[in-house]
Amino acid sequence: MSDHCSIETLCTHGDPDNRIPHPFGAVTMPVFFSTAYAHPGFLESTGYDYSRVSNPTRAELENTVTALEEGAGTVALSSGMAAITLWMELLPQGSHIVCSEDIYGGTIRLFENVGKNHGLSVTAVDTGDTKAVEAAIRDNTAALFVETPGNPTMRVSDLRALKKICERHHLILAVDNTFLTPYFQKPLTLGADFVIHSGTKFLSGHNDVLAGFLTSKTREDAERVQALTMTCGSCLGPLDSYLALRGLKTLPLRMEKQQANAQKIAQWLKERPYVEAVHYVGLPDDPGYALNRSQATGAGSMISFSVDTKERALRALTKVKLIYFAESLGGVESLLTYPATQTHKDVPQEIRERLGITDNFLRLSVGIEGADDLIRDLQQALED
Ligand SMILES: *Cc1c(COP(=O)(O)O)cnc(C)c1O
Repeated sequence: MSDHCSIETLCTHGDPDNRIPHPFGAVTMPVFFSTAYAHPGFLESTGYDYSRVSNPTRAELENTVTALEEGAGTVALSSGMAAITLWMELLPQGSHIVCSEDIYGGTIRLFENVGKNHGLSVTAVDTGDTKAVEAAIRDNTAALFVETPGNPTMRVSDLRALKKICERHHLILAVDNTFLTPYFQKPLTLGADFVIHSGTKFLSGHNDVLAGFLTSKTREDAERVQALTMTCGSCLGPLDSYLALRGLKTLPLRMEKQQANAQKIAQWLKERPYVEAVHYVGLPDDPGYALNRSQATGAGSMISFSVDTKERALRALTKVKLIYFAESLGGVESLLTYPATQTHKDVPQEIRERLGITDNFLRLSVGIEGADDLIRDLQQALED
């Protein structure tokens, strides 16, 4: 492994212990569009035969993510949902999953709607409450699927404690690490068996590529996942792999700047009289602050907040000038989202209400713009 290599160097150069040669001394990995690779001889291979199985551009990306997450292997897929779908395929027929209720809306939709056809059932609980997790476990529970901090209300789950529960009940622990990325949090080192990413978000970071990753902790799982990817075919294309690799090079710089901006904005929001609640795990009085600090080295740049009226929330969506009113997150451009009708519309109403995803609730993905410009934009959108 690459214990000696800093995360900044890994992001820029890839894994020095697992390097794929670049032809002609190319500094960046070229985009290999070729889908077929000629065999040097009978039963011989250059290492690449057919792009669904492996592709040099994608392989460099996969090796880099594996090194960043400290796993045994990664597959790069066509989206975050493709990654979660592939992970779901690993579960035996008729399995039950316990998942965080504070989770990406599409994940719940996948488990509830598509998983059902495979005999899968799901119980969503507050995974920040280990007793609730334990109480939800049944005889056929196969896995625990966690997002921390959660989406959109930023609840923090104790990964080390959840790992103990999983060991006791022989469950697979999968963590969606999209919000913090391995720059701030490495779930495999805290006991997770799989890490999942929407690579569309922070890892690629420029709001211009759709991608997903599934990283396995053990070599055995990595081989199963690789075989499944080759069979199911939801792999990432070479151009998207290149864009994701290019984005990854600046991950540390972006994460630091976005976090610094988010810290300032969260503090500013807290001081507004019409802001009723601010959820940001970088605020010392956030309920998840201490726990997050015990398992992650940063708080990231996702903020959610509620304002006093629905009118103020809706007005802000259309009045922002610099910030876009758009779904998605994690890119260099700041985006403001309305979870009740956008990202979380498929979360059952009862869970939405319990989480406080009301009509007054907004989610902000903070980008790399000047913090003061973002604050000015929010002020004119929320106050005039
Ligand atoms: C966006 C997102 C997903 C889904 O990823 P896509 O790349 O949009 O398919 C999954 N989990 C989280 C936390 C996300 O933010």
